[in-house]
Amino acid sequence: MEIDYRTQMESAIDKVTGEIIDAEQLWLIENVDKERYICRGCGAKAVPASYQPENVVRPYFRSTHNADCDVSGEAKLAARGRLEKLGSKLTGFPAPYPSKLVLVDDRVVVDDGPGGEHPLPPRTRGGPRVDGGGTTDVQRKRSAGTIRPICRTFINYPYDRYLDLSVPGVETKTYAQVFKKLKWDELLSYPDQRIFYAAMRWSPPLRTDDYFEVSLDGGGREGKKLIQPYRIRIAWTAWSKSKRTYVCNELEVARKDAIAEAEKKTNKKAYLFFLGQQDHGDLTLFHVTDHRLICCLFDEVIWPKF
Ligand SMILES: [Zn+2]
Repeated sequence: MEIDYRTQMESAIDKVTGEIIDAEQLWLIENVDKERYICRGCGAKAVPASYQPENVVRPYFRSTHNADCDVSGEAKLAARGRLEKLGSKLTGFPAPYPSKLVLVDDRVVVDDGPGGEHPLPPRTRGGPRVDGGGTTDVQRKRSAGTIRPICRTFINYPYDRYLDLSVPGVETKTYAQVFKKLKWDELLSYPDQRIFYAAMRWSPPLRTDDYFEVSLDGGGREGKKLIQPYRIRIAWTAWSKSKRTYVCNELEVARKDAIAEAEKKTNKKAYLFFLGQQDHGDLTLFHVTDHRLICCLFDEVIWPKF
């Protein structure tokens, strides 16, 4: 579905935690609180829509923005962001963006529903911008509770990857440095933690009681033939049914989109992004245990030639 960005948004701010959340994260929340979300730009109420896992249309937020809201122009911004640099260190970036991954207690993600006692106090910093000009880059920085909004920003703004990004366990500090594509034609050791990514293969994921495993289009090749693909194993023994459904859904939707898109010969693919540990004995295998550290986006990844 093409989203009408004047009223519909892929992400919003969770009023309770102050975090940017991506609409597809709504799949994971058992009792979605419709009062809890606001526009990232203007603070207007953002109403969750189409978030039942069985809906054909993907989840989104609907909002009636205030007049000067910059998020309502986000589709335009993202379209422009794929062609040129939008901000600078000096002037800042023209929209709020996630600059930090903050992993907090699971209860933040699995909401306790309307009227429930929330375990975390609201954050005062990083709230939505309601004033006009004069906003600095610092005030546009937001934290994210999963890698998903971060990956979306990485894809949408390829010329602005100088933007700050802080991820636990990762030593590098900008979008360009934190993300690393797994080698397409070579099996390598990756000792330094990064947000790794590669296109998913079309074969269906492997599911067992203990884990879920996805093969990627990269790894050891003989000529063009992939003989040792990188694999991501997601240990899910301890996960609830809704968490499993969420992750499976997300990957399946993207995998099917990619298969359907192939005929059109575009550069869009189902990219899997993850923060995980490479297996000590098997370079093809990466281990992921936390659902917040994996996401799949069907899109094109542009690396500008400067
Ligand atoms: Zn708005």
